[in-house]
Amino acid sequence: MILALAGGVGGARLARGLAAVLPPEQLSIVVNTGDDFEHLGFLICPDLDTVCYTLAGVNNLAQGWGLAGESWAFMDAIGKLGGETWFNLGDRDLATHSIRRTMLGRHSLSEITAHLAGKFGIAHPIAPMSDDPVRSIVDTDEGELAFQHYFVRRRAEPRFRSIRFDGAEAASPSPALIAALDDPALEAIILCPSNPVLSIAPILALPGIRARLDARRVPIVAVSPFIGGRAVKGPAAKIMEEIGIATTAAGLISYYGGLLDGLVIDRGDAGESVAGVALHPTDTLMRGSEDQTRLAGEVLAFARSLR
Ligand code: GDP
Ligand code: CA
Repeated sequence: MILALAGGVGGARLARGLAAVLPPEQLSIVVNTGDDFEHLGFLICPDLDTVCYTLAGVNNLAQGWGLAGESWAFMDAIGKLGGETWFNLGDRDLATHSIRRTMLGRHSLSEITAHLAGKFGIAHPIAPMSDDPVRSIVDTDEGELAFQHYFVRRRAEPRFRSIRFDGAEAASPSPALIAALDDPALEAIILCPSNPVLSIAPILALPGIRARLDARRVPIVAVSPFIGGRAVKGPAAKIMEEIGIATTAAGLISYYGGLLDGLVIDRGDAGESVAGVALHPTDTLMRGSEDQTRLAGEVLAFARSLR
């Protein structure tokens, strides 16, 4: 059994590859919910939806988020009514948020996510990191900003100082996360090539998770989101620079503070060696499903070689 911790785009890409090489009962995908927020009457869960849409093959490739074949009549109408238009919700995407909203209260976020994933035809289990609300709040040179205000409204332009995960101390890890960490058949834990600070750190901030990860004597392997020191997409490199951590293997390993047994890096970044952590250089850019499947297979083989 493999536990994969994922954020949005980078996490979804590797998760799709893992789902292609592992049967459903051998993979547990646990997703960041620190980006979630209440907006226009809905609960928006961007990373969960990105992972679901990507695994279902219905994600919008050009846009990098949301659904393929999207239309925007709702946003036009909201704008005309004087509503907030800085966060785009497509017409089809809205159905996901509506179903989530109507199920909330009677069902946990885990149950809702499983229901939606099933409707999208996904066989592999996808779960939130927690059923309790955790909200990332970014401290910047413009003051504290709720996550989506920092990320979308302000396009991650303010200088990043630190992040806190409101609600994390009181949040319980989701049943799927606990079950995976307690599973005697757990072989390895994979940190997908997601934003370490925005997407992986919230999961690690849940009470007891760090200790449980350390206590399980299974390899913990991360896939770097950096290629040539740059993020494939998004502000990961900018944020690392702003907190003074290099976007290199050594930087990532020090950021994860002794957690990693192995790190998959891009071939072009090979050369550097870091004591105590095995490095696996390969092609880490996932252009499509072939790349995703190949990289996932390599990550698995590498993780298993560290047992
Ligand atoms: P977000 O929630 O959509 O920002 O998604 P994540 O946190 O999961 O992913 C953002 C990170 O994914 C960025 O730092 C990217 O560098 C990384 N990423 C996206 N696509 C790829 C890829 O094909 N290969 C690698 N190695 N990283 C990727
Ligand atoms: Ca995200």
